[in-house]
Amino acid sequence: MTKEEEIPDWVGAKEFYDKYEPKEILGRGVSSVVRRCVNKHTDQEYAVKIIDITPSDKMTPQEIKEIREATVKEIDILKKVYGQENIIQLKDCYESKVFFFLVFDLMRKGELFDYLTEKVTLTEKETRKIMRALLEVVQFLHGQNIVHRDLKPENILLDDNMNIKLTDFGFAVQIQPGQTLKGE
Ligand code: ADP
Ligand code: MG
Repeated sequence: MTKEEEIPDWVGAKEFYDKYEPKEILGRGVSSVVRRCVNKHTDQEYAVKIIDITPSDKMTPQEIKEIREATVKEIDILKKVYGQENIIQLKDCYESKVFFFLVFDLMRKGELFDYLTEKVTLTEKETRKIMRALLEVVQFLHGQNIVHRDLKPENILLDDNMNIKLTDFGFAVQIQPGQTLKGE
């Protein structure tokens, strides 16, 4: 590999590390790690989803290609849904040949999954608030022909005021007119 080919890699990652300082791990997925991070210039905290597409024995070139394409699609959909009050906001993103860095607002209260596990029973009022917001998000997404395809309490985060924020658009698709989805 020539030096020129290596540079874009380094530039994408450097841009992220110049601006943000990654901290502890908040969550993990199959090919991603989510960490708290701090903007070095403003001290504002965020969450960064780091998607590793480094060629290795664990992943075939075909798998790497699929993760890359899925991440590009995830970013594209996150940009389209930006601003809906119950959807996580993508604040910044960087791409290099071996990493993607997706910077989101930090949801300090974590996953709805952990909240439910801890509380066990919620009041009817609280349940109604969560379900209403969730159904409104789904209605909003479907209105734009976007299907999330991975709705579960682990992908629903809670903000400081206990409002839900839907996240993880890694499996989401935007269907084209006439296209149908096949279940898996
Ligand atoms: P994956 O596609 O790997 O499942 P997610 O986007 O669902 O990745 O993130 C994995 C986990 O990281 C989430 O379930 C959650 O625990 C944590 N996480 C993700 N985004 C945030 C965020 N903005 N604030 C706080 N925690 C987050
Ligand atoms: Mg997830």
